[in-house]
Amino acid sequence: MSIETQLKAVIREVPDFPIPGINFKDISPIFLDPLLMQDVIRALVNEWQGKGITKVIGIDSRGFLFGPQLAQELGAGFVMVRKKGKLPPETISVSYSLEYGEATLESVVDSIQPGDKVIVHDDLLATGGTARAAALLAQKLGAEVLGFSFLVHLSFLEGEAKVKEASSNIHALVTY
Ligand code: AMP
Repeated sequence: MSIETQLKAVIREVPDFPIPGINFKDISPIFLDPLLMQDVIRALVNEWQGKGITKVIGIDSRGFLFGPQLAQELGAGFVMVRKKGKLPPETISVSYSLEYGEATLESVVDSIQPGDKVIVHDDLLATGGTARAAALLAQKLGAEVLGFSFLVHLSFLEGEAKVKEASSNIHALVTY
């Protein structure tokens, strides 16, 4: 069975969460199945191996679930990009709008150096504002963004167009 079929079988859809009109994709059942977790990691790693990636940028908070292991398997560092006020100084920030609401992302300034080749990783690409903000943070710190790694891509929200400004190398295991 393909990884896409396996994931579609377990990802739970929650209508009208966290606000009316949003069809929330709940990836937490993946973590009840250790073999599936392994398959997910393998599929994520396969896409990026041998590309000289030095850092994986994981987005708060579900980008922290597979991000560190993805980084480890690629022989890269892992960097947390977090919501405002969670990281100690010195940080830089970017504000953006998301599928539901407004937010600010921050990164610790010395976590990324000029010359780093990074990918941005999160659970899901919706409108693309979050991933684009994370890519912008990495670029502000001098990194080259080689691409984006997601578990899920909600293609009907056209987030691809937004993140393409940073890199057109966009990979997701499941597309709706
Ligand atoms: P966006 O900036 O619109 O691409 O939103 C992506 C971020 O919001 C990711 O960190 C997701 O975890 C979360 N998100 C947005 N829409 C959904 C959804 N329908 N189901 C689950 N998470 C979502």
